[in-house]
Amino acid sequence: MEWIWPAACGLLAAALAYHLRQLYLLRRWLERGDTPDPPRSHGAWDHLHALLARSRRESARREAGLAESLARWRAAARALPDGVVILDADRIEWCNDTAALHLEIDPARDAGTPITHLVRIPEFAEYLERGDHARPIQVEPPHAGGGRVLSLQVVSYGEDQRLVLTRDVTQFRKMEQVRREFVANVSHELRTPLTVVTGFLEALREEPDPQAARRYIDLMAEQSRRMLRLVEDLLTLSALESSPPPPMEEPIEMRSLLERLGAEARALSGGKHRIEIASEEGVDLLGSEKELSSAFGNLVSNAIRYTPEGGVVRLAWRRTPGGAEFDVEDSGIGIAPEHLPRLTERFYRVDRGRSRDTGGTGLGLAIVKHALGRHGATLDVASTPGKGSRFSARFSGPRLRDQAAPPAR
Ligand code: ADP
Repeated sequence: MEWIWPAACGLLAAALAYHLRQLYLLRRWLERGDTPDPPRSHGAWDHLHALLARSRRESARREAGLAESLARWRAAARALPDGVVILDADRIEWCNDTAALHLEIDPARDAGTPITHLVRIPEFAEYLERGDHARPIQVEPPHAGGGRVLSLQVVSYGEDQRLVLTRDVTQFRKMEQVRREFVANVSHELRTPLTVVTGFLEALREEPDPQAARRYIDLMAEQSRRMLRLVEDLLTLSALESSPPPPMEEPIEMRSLLERLGAEARALSGGKHRIEIASEEGVDLLGSEKELSSAFGNLVSNAIRYTPEGGVVRLAWRRTPGGAEFDVEDSGIGIAPEHLPRLTERFYRVDRGRSRDTGGTGLGLAIVKHALGRHGATLDVASTPGKGSRFSARFSGPRLRDQAAPPAR
C-alpha cells in the first residue's frame, strides 16, 4: 500500500497545476480586456468564467449607455440658446458654444484655467467672490465693442462646483429703454394740453366777459380734441400690436377706397389744394379694410397738412412688377434725408411746432408702418426738401386679388 501516498501526491500536484493554469488563464483574460470570450474550461471554473463574462458584458453595456447619455446631455447643453460654463471651484471645466461666444473663451484651449483670468470684467470677479448669487448681474463686456449687455448668473451645486449661465439681454435692455421713453413721451404729450385746459378753467372762473369766456371754451375744446386724437391713435397702435394678423380673405375694393380717401382729402384741404386720383382697374387688396384705410388715411392727411396752399396731392393705386402699390405724392415742404430713417418712430417729428399746429400726434406713420407690416407690405419714402414727398405702400402678390393675373393653381 506504500504506492498510495506517491499516487495521492501526484494527483494533488496535477490538480494544483490544473487550478494554477486556470487562474493564470483567467488573469490573462481579465487583463486583456478586449478578448470577447473567456478561456474554455470545465466544472466550477467554467461556471465562474461564464459569470465573469456576463458581468463584464453588462458593465460594458452600462458604460456605453452612460457615454451615450453624457453625449446627449452635452449636445443638449450645447444647443441651449443661453450660455453655460461648468466651473470646478473657479476653473473652467466645460462650456457650450453660446458661453464661448459671449465670454470669448475657447472650450478646448481654456479648460482648467481660472475663469477670472479670461473674463476680465471686474463686476463679474466681484460677483463670483460674493456668496450671494440669488440674482443675476448685467454687465457690458468690453470685448463686445460696446452696446452689448450680458446677464450672468452663478448657480452652485455639488462640492465646490458652479455653473455660470450667460444670456444676451441687449435687445431686452433696448426694449426697456423704448418703453420708458414711450411712457415719458405720452405723459409729456398729454401734459401740455391738460395744462392749457386747467389754466383756462382757472381763468374762466374769474372771467366776467362772456365773449372772452367763449374764446376760452373754444380753446379748451381744441385741446380736448387734441388729447382725444392722441388717445385714439394710441389705442389704434396698441390694437395693431396686440391682435393677430388680419385674415387674407376680406377683399378691399380699391376704386371705392380711393374715392373715399379723395373725399377725405378734399374735406381736409378745404379747397386749398388740387387733389388728383388715379386708380388701376381690376386689382384689389386682400386684408383688413379698417387697418388699411386708416393707414392710407394717415398718408393722405400728412400730404395735405405738410403741403402749403395751392399745392398738389396725388393718390395713385397701380400694378408694379412685383405686386401693386398705393402712392401719395405731394408738392409740399419735403423732408431732409437725415430724418427719413426715423420717420416711423413713435413721436418722431421733423418740426414739432408744425405737426402740433396742424393737429398731428406724431403717431401717424408708426400706425402706417404697423398696419402695412401686418399685410406683408413695406413703406417707401422719397422726398426732396422744398419740392415734395412720395410715400409708397408696396404690396406683394399674395395680398392681391388681381383679375388680370392668371388664376393660382
Ligand atoms: P405727425 O402727426 O406729426 O404728422 P406722423 O407720424 O404722421 O406724425 O409723421 C411724422 C413726421 O414726418 C411729421 O411730424 C412730419 O415732420 C413728417 N412728415 C410726414 N409726412 C410728411 C409729408 N407728406 N411731408 C413732409 N413731412 C412729412
